[in-house]
Amino acid sequence: MPLASASGLSDEDRALADAVMAGQRRALAKAITLIESTRADHQTRANALLRALLPHTGRALRIGISGVPGVGKSTFIEALGLLLIAQGKRVAVLAVDPSSTRSGGSILGDKTRMERLSQRAAAFIRPSPSSGALGGVTEKTREALLVCEAAGFDVVIVETVGVGQSETAVAGMTDVFVLLQLPNAGDDLQAIKKGIVELADIVVFNKADLDPLAAETAMAQMRAALSLLRPTSAHWQPPVLKASAAKNAGIAEFWQSIEAHRATLEASGELATKRQHQALDWMWQMIDAGLQSRFRARPAVRGALPQLMVAVENGTVTPAAAAQQLLGCLSQEYATPDYD
Ligand code: GDP
Repeated sequence: MPLASASGLSDEDRALADAVMAGQRRALAKAITLIESTRADHQTRANALLRALLPHTGRALRIGISGVPGVGKSTFIEALGLLLIAQGKRVAVLAVDPSSTRSGGSILGDKTRMERLSQRAAAFIRPSPSSGALGGVTEKTREALLVCEAAGFDVVIVETVGVGQSETAVAGMTDVFVLLQLPNAGDDLQAIKKGIVELADIVVFNKADLDPLAAETAMAQMRAALSLLRPTSAHWQPPVLKASAAKNAGIAEFWQSIEAHRATLEASGELATKRQHQALDWMWQMIDAGLQSRFRARPAVRGALPQLMVAVENGTVTPAAAAQQLLGCLSQEYATPDYD
């Protein structure tokens, strides 16, 4: 491996950072691959690379889009992407797919999706990283998002599947979170039950062409449901829109809504605070994850944990007492010199 300079970047990685900032898509793909690697030396290089790119991030509009498989996410994102490219913008699409973390397979079926968009020079499409726990995957996606910004993309779309936990993560890394819905009541109830609707800044009923009347009914029901929820911002009531992505209908109106949301949040100063909170949340999530893995790696914890878990399961020790005892292992070990 080439020697690293004072910035922690080797000449090769300095060149990579420059190529990313020049907007070269191959360099961008290579940088994201480095970030997604679990090898310790790659992680060190990735961290140095991100440090170098960080001052050049923050300028993109970050959009999260979620919906159940089949709702039309890729059709919608492709139509939106092509519209934005026609306006002279550059668009990156990243995916968070919880299914790909478990099975190696993917609900988002990345390879064949958004074919027309992927052929455009102003677009960059990256499937979900497919290893590690969901936390690890969303972590990589956050970092990939920053790299896309450093590469000068005007809009970064983070797509995910409507299953619950990944939505919270995606809403926590984007400026505006969009829920795509099918115009039938079952889909509404699922999304409300899973707590996804309350994350939404904009709700769009796609496939409105199939049954326009059902779409209107579903929209009215969704407006009623939203009016009962606490809005995501004091200055913004989530609009409920309709679209037919396959027919390219409703996409321009949707974009107007995104711009209105952005303008509202900028005018109230909320965009800056939202991003600050997201950055702090990210830091704490990293600390929590780091503490948890160090805690579990301690010999005293590893020794006591299996028995205590069984005891808690059997009800012979209370969860609180077990937690207290395990956390006690930590202070015992901290009392002696710590070599890890
Ligand atoms: P995803 O799984 O959410 O990414 O959904 P896709 O974008 O792959 O769309 C699933 C299917 O629905 C495809 O066959 C699309 O052509 C179709 N589809 C997408 N949007 C619309 C729409 O607005 N109207 C109709 N009729 N079909 C659509």
